[in-house]
Amino acid sequence: MVLPLENPSKSYWIEAAESKLRDFRSTAELPTEVDIVIVGSGYTGATTAYWLHKYTAKGKGPSPKILMLEARDICGGATGRNGGQLRPHAYSRYPKWCERFGPDGALALIKHEMAHLSAFKELVAEEGIAEEVCFKLGETFDAAMSDEAWKRLKGAYEAMKRDHGANGDVVRECRLIEDPAAAEEFTQMKGCIGAVIHPAGQIWPYKFIHALLRIVLDTGKLNLQAHTPVTAVSERGADGWITVTTARGVVRTKAVVHATNRWASHLLPEFTKVIYQNRATLAAIKAPEGFIKHTGAQHWDDIVNNYHLQLPPPYNTIIVGGAKQVLCHKPLSHMRSDEEDKIIDGVADFLRTWPASDIVGWEEKEPTELALPTKEGGNWTGTESSSIDSFPFVGSVSNRPGHFIAAGFSGHGMPRILLSSAHITPLVLAFLKLDTSPPALVAAYPSLPEPFAVSIERIELAQKIDAAARLEESVKSSLESAKKTFCNDARSRSTASPDDTN
Ligand SMILES: Cc1cc2nc3c(=O)[nH]c(=O)nc-3n(C[C@H](O)[C@H](O)[C@H](O)COP(=O)(O)OP(=O)(O)OC[C@H]3O[C@@H](n4cnc5c(N)ncnc54)[C@H](O)[C@@H]3O)c2cc1C
Repeated sequence: MVLPLENPSKSYWIEAAESKLRDFRSTAELPTEVDIVIVGSGYTGATTAYWLHKYTAKGKGPSPKILMLEARDICGGATGRNGGQLRPHAYSRYPKWCERFGPDGALALIKHEMAHLSAFKELVAEEGIAEEVCFKLGETFDAAMSDEAWKRLKGAYEAMKRDHGANGDVVRECRLIEDPAAAEEFTQMKGCIGAVIHPAGQIWPYKFIHALLRIVLDTGKLNLQAHTPVTAVSERGADGWITVTTARGVVRTKAVVHATNRWASHLLPEFTKVIYQNRATLAAIKAPEGFIKHTGAQHWDDIVNNYHLQLPPPYNTIIVGGAKQVLCHKPLSHMRSDEEDKIIDGVADFLRTWPASDIVGWEEKEPTELALPTKEGGNWTGTESSSIDSFPFVGSVSNRPGHFIAAGFSGHGMPRILLSSAHITPLVLAFLKLDTSPPALVAAYPSLPEPFAVSIERIELAQKIDAAARLEESVKSSLESAKKTFCNDARSRSTASPDDTN
């Protein structure tokens, strides 16, 4: 049984947003019959509802009746607990993706992610919500904090340049800063020895989702229900209906969209071990206005990193995540962990001292206390959904007519989900034989990358991967990183003991 825990640790994003939709229920009772049930109210569920509205806004036929069921408070899962980074893999995954899918396949994946920057820009402009959701585009950096990291980051950029030419449109979006002093100045990261720069965005994900849901609620097409876990969904019956069972009663529907992230396998057991959990951790720390100039990430090896951004006024909060220098000493504290109701020993202390130890020019002062998450700051955890073959599953669920899924986006959903939900929406509407007209917003964007597509073959191959061996490998790599110098200062080792793996 993998339903979301009811009492996750408090996240700054949720506490500080103070949204009226937090515990929202459109009606006291659930409707008995609808056209579409969306399970999950995170980024995937909310953008699917939004696209359903946009695709049917100009249609001649009736609009579908949509019901969204959420186990927790609205957007209480990964989207309400993440890093806020809309940061495409512009080059860094190129070698890995090229090895699996060839130069063009790798480029298609990168272009899909990069397209999210303009897609977000257009959407928030069209809806007039850019300021409300703290949306900002700019440049981001990967800061190399070791020779090992610089070799990997620069190597990835150069491999892409070699295959696609210096003037390739994606290659032109990236640039290197090779001079350490210039890299430190741009990144504001003490000890940075080189950096790769590329376009990216930042957003308050929870506010974005609540704004989209408010827009769809205002149309009258959506019934939204917080604190309503779905415990079972049936196959489609001969009469065309699917039965959705919840703790608050049963609903009949013609289609179900599984926007359930790590918890997908609770309702679709074929995804057990295929989509699984890892826990990540972040903190919010108040800073002087405009102190951090760019979003970014620090890298020591391919496991150890931190990433951060700063929110605009009046919030002026730094959101920093990673803390891998601490986590790599205790891999099982986060790998395959669902314990979102607990913070991880040593992380709050590590992150509250991070600005003073890692940012150039941070004025020494008593570090903020992070133990108690409030709207002023704090440290929290969240469950990321990982996919065993590294890519999300987006499309019709094989062998289950009327069921659609978009899940398994790992710790990297922001530059992938908006256009993935735009892909499944017309599939759902076509299944229901509803009249649709594609919104101008999605017309220009690349189609779904091949590796995201759902098929029986892909699911069966994924099920055959030895998940236990994968975990063992990851634990081993993590403990190798734990031996390196950069994981052995007092801050990183404060809670680790030599044979401590969990
Ligand atoms: C700590 C952390 C940091 C991250 N940082 C970043 C980042 O900076 N950039 C980035 O790109 N990505 C980041 N990610 C990943 C990103 O947040 C996710 O990929 C994305 O939010 C997934 O959205 P979702 O809607 O699919 O899942 P969620 O937001 O998890 O939504 C799924 C919802 O479904 C509900 N649900 C599940 N099962 C049921 C059920 N049976 N009945 C009813 N409801 C159910 C859950 O309660 C949940 O609210 C991070 C993730 C975490 C956890």
